[in-house]
Amino acid sequence: MASDASLPASGTRWPAITKPRSDWNVVPNLVDYDRTRAAFSWENARRDLDGLPGGRGLNIAHEAVDRHAAGRLATRVAIRWLSKDGQRRELTYADLREGTSRFANVLQALGIGNGDIVAALAGRIPELYIAALGTIKNGSVFTPLFSAFGPEPIQTRINIAKARVLVTTPALYQKKVEALRGSLPSLEHVLLVGAGASFAGTRDLAALMAGADSQFVIPPTDPNDVALLHFTSGTTGKPKGAVHVHEAVVAHHATARFALDFHDDDIFWCTADPGWITGTSYGIIAPLTHGLTSIVDEADFDAERWYTILEKERVTVWYTAPTAIRMLIRTGAAAARARDFRSLRFLSSVGEPLNPEAVRWGVEAFGRPFHDNWWQTETGGIMIANFAASEVRPGSMGRPLPGIDAAIVRRVDNRIEVIDEPGIQGELALKPGWPSMFRAYLSDDVRYRRCFADGYYLTGDLARRDSDGYYWFVGRADDVIKSSGHLIGPFEVESVLVEHPAVAEAGVIGKPDPIALEIVKAFVALKPGFEPSETLRRELLAFTRVRLGAAVAPKELDFRPSIPKNRAGKIMRRLLKARELGLPEGDTSTLEAS
Ligand code: ATP
Ligand code: MG
Repeated sequence: MASDASLPASGTRWPAITKPRSDWNVVPNLVDYDRTRAAFSWENARRDLDGLPGGRGLNIAHEAVDRHAAGRLATRVAIRWLSKDGQRRELTYADLREGTSRFANVLQALGIGNGDIVAALAGRIPELYIAALGTIKNGSVFTPLFSAFGPEPIQTRINIAKARVLVTTPALYQKKVEALRGSLPSLEHVLLVGAGASFAGTRDLAALMAGADSQFVIPPTDPNDVALLHFTSGTTGKPKGAVHVHEAVVAHHATARFALDFHDDDIFWCTADPGWITGTSYGIIAPLTHGLTSIVDEADFDAERWYTILEKERVTVWYTAPTAIRMLIRTGAAAARARDFRSLRFLSSVGEPLNPEAVRWGVEAFGRPFHDNWWQTETGGIMIANFAASEVRPGSMGRPLPGIDAAIVRRVDNRIEVIDEPGIQGELALKPGWPSMFRAYLSDDVRYRRCFADGYYLTGDLARRDSDGYYWFVGRADDVIKSSGHLIGPFEVESVLVEHPAVAEAGVIGKPDPIALEIVKAFVALKPGFEPSETLRRELLAFTRVRLGAAVAPKELDFRPSIPKNRAGKIMRRLLKARELGLPEGDTSTLEAS
């Protein structure tokens, strides 16, 4: 059992949440962790997929769509779309095959082929999913642009990617692209979805689709052919374009089985937008390769709407993010407890560290804990997770998946020292070799090569491993605070602050200090019903001191109406810091409008 080394941080002691077998209503996919890891190989995982007929390679769209459309799942609902205004549209696997085949034929007719980049700028509408899979089917490369981006990040990404095609809506085109058109030299075709005004230099996608053949034979696809180009979230700086290949589907499929516990009849809801990689790896590809029904909600976050979807659509597996969970917590557990969530079997979260308080709140509100998991745009799929059959250690990201070798390391010049001892903080590193590993940063080979040393991929995140092999996130290497000889992770301090009943969100930074090098400074947004005051400020400082000790607790604390986040929902500590110090804000292309 947990030794001292398995504690998340000085003084924060959260009991593990166990799930007795008597509570299982289905047998989890990963029951015996050690045995499954020992028996696992990526070669075997590949056998869970079909490959293109006739040994012509491996294509994501075949695994996600065509093979199911050709079999007993043809009439199963692949995507259930819920529109903002209350419509429902269902696409079966057969519908999805037809739509993606027509789209691939449209691309062919435009002379768009293998390796050509197709960008999409659209909200969560069915055509986005069809365009993504149709592009991949054609051997072209899909790159999603988050629909809330302004013109500048759109222009940068289209130009870095050298996209030849853009799929978008008339409204988004008019608002964000039309004026830029002259500065998008690679862009040859703009395909507009849905009725509306027509613009010079654009084509109506529906008309092109209607005129295209409904059959498409996927061309031979090398597993190492590029399929997806995904930009990182821009949390630590300028977003990087990570290149992913068709073989990634082997990892999407296997990791979803282990970390999201997919079972045949699941109704799955991934709340991430396909503008971010979670929204493609697990919002599009993995549920389809498993033949599940996936919920796609067009609307933005709304607590009551989300509870209604979970309840009425009988979602069984839910994959969301800490920022959304924190917003639900803000509205209180009573609203959740008033609902019938008996269908909901597995709750999971990714994208940022999940505060222990949020894990526990899952039990209070839904009767089940959230299962945190960790990965990056670069890794293409989930690497470390809390599993359905294992105890959940609140505040821990969990353990490496079968097929994933993780380590805590220290960089010494150009060498890597592996830290074997539990409880010691260092950089989280992974042994390359899993199929969804990124193959390049677009146009930045130097940066790509800097990520590797001594046979390891260095993630840029700091973590600790406990004596049972659970990993605990400390912070991004850039965010870690060096104060009076201590290395302090902002996450541990933020997690304590959000335990206080008045605190909705917290962001913690290191503020330069002549004596201590840096001091810990906290920014706090309060829950509804609480007002900033000197008394509350003192109370919060005292609250953290009791739990964390004087060396780690914040010395300064300011109230903010909200904590700056990027559009992927992540707290932008570098921005809090730049604003505090009056420094330039750096790349803010993914900053959420505040
Ligand atoms: P950029 O690389 O542009 O700064 P980003 O790192 O936020 O942006 P993503 O690839 O979307 O871009 O996010 C991956 C990062 O998110 C991880 O490296 C980690 O810092 C954080 N993260 C994701 N999941 C977790 C988790 N479960 N716990 C802690 N941190 C997480
Ligand atoms: Mg990153």
